[in-house]
Amino acid sequence: CGIVGYIGHRDAWDIVIKGLKRLEYRGYDSAGIALMNGGLKIHKKAGKVSDLEAHTLHEDRSGTTGMGHTRWATHGAPSDRNSHPHRSGDGKLSIIHNGIIENYSVIKEALLAKGHVFSSDTDTEVLIHLIEDIHSDTTDLLEAVRLALNEVIGAYAIVIMSQDSPDQLIAARKGSPMVIGVGEGEYFIASDATPIVEYTKNVIYLKDSQIALVKRDELVVKTIDNIIQTPYIQELSLQL
Ligand code: GLU
Repeated sequence: CGIVGYIGHRDAWDIVIKGLKRLEYRGYDSAGIALMNGGLKIHKKAGKVSDLEAHTLHEDRSGTTGMGHTRWATHGAPSDRNSHPHRSGDGKLSIIHNGIIENYSVIKEALLAKGHVFSSDTDTEVLIHLIEDIHSDTTDLLEAVRLALNEVIGAYAIVIMSQDSPDQLIAARKGSPMVIGVGEGEYFIASDATPIVEYTKNVIYLKDSQIALVKRDELVVKTIDNIIQTPYIQELSLQL
């Protein structure tokens, strides 16, 4: 039910965890985080954000690219294995998702027939496997995500990280809100502006069916129909 992403020069862990706590009011049953730290590292657990923190106290939590999620289970019981982030079959891609992929079972059948093996009961894991499947023919990951989203029916706010492209986040939304905070050499992504306001007042409200490629010094926004968009940066008046 909450999404926070960060790419920049600070420790992503602190920003993401703090952000997830700010989104706790939305309600959730599990929490998880992915960090780019040598490889793609994932920590996730049923329970509170504070449980995730306690559980990872002795882990290396460094890394300047990361994304975190609080889950309100719709497909698959609340459990560690169904918590987000989820990985692709080869483990190189990771996704967090709020919303519902309505046609996940049809897509899952097709992917199972192609030999995909799933490790959760979620609709979300099906989406990252679909992206992986398309990515095996389409080298450009952003394009693979865009093509996958064209096959999806439902509502989503998603963020994707890739081990092979460690210096970027891909974000997209349809039906679920998503805000991008614009900093100096850093970007923030969140379900609403509350996790972002303390860092920057400059935000972009991603529109429905838009997909964003977010790097430390570059932001590209296009529609899922592949039309480049000029993002409109607005100033938040929100007080903390
Ligand atoms: N449908 C996804 C799941 O059940 C995401 C739920 C959410 O919005 O947190 O895992």
